[in-house]
Formats: sequence, C-alpha cells, structure tokens
Amino acid sequence: MAIYEFLCEQHGVFELHRPIGQAPSEQACPDCGAPARRIVSAPMVIGSTRSAWSGAIERAARSAHEPEVVSSVPAAGARQRIRTVPLTPQLARLPRP
Ligand SMILES: [Zn+2]
Repeated sequence: MAIYEFLCEQHGVFELHRPIGQAPSEQACPDCGAPARRIVSAPMVIGSTRSAWSGAIERAARSAHEPEVVSSVPAAGARQRIRTVPLTPQLARLPRP
C-alpha cells in the first residue's frame, strides 16, 4: 500500500491509501465531493513526521549559507558513543576498543 495525496482547491490536501501504481489521477474530496488532482510530494522517511522531514530540509538548505557554528566542545553527556549493531554475528566477538 502507498499513500497518495490529493489537493482540493477548497479544503487542501487529503490522503488516500491504495496499492502502488493504482492511484487515480483525480479523487473526489471527502469534504465537498469536488474532483481533486493528485499531487506529488517528498517520500516519507520511516520514523519521521512531515514536520521532521520539512525541518531537515530547511536545516540542510540553511546550512549552505548559514552553517551552525559551535564555540565549545559539546558537554560530556552529549558525546555518548552510538552503539552500532555488527553486520554479522562473527564481528560481535571481535575485541572492542
Ligand atoms: Zn473539498
């Protein structure tokens, strides 16, 4: 299943769940019944919301001309090592630094 978005001129964007490749080019608006055309939007990233996605895009665009600058090293708590999962069980047995 995929989520397709449609734009009603009066009521804005609404979503429709359909199997991939089986979305109509127009769908009746659930509020007013007027035909709404299908729109294409950014793909959804697993685990994120639309606001998280748009926030990431805005940060990336802003960093091109307004990079975030830090004046000190992050606090010790903020520098925790990220635990990663080894690709194979054999690698889990190797000694760790
Ligand atoms: Zn409508």
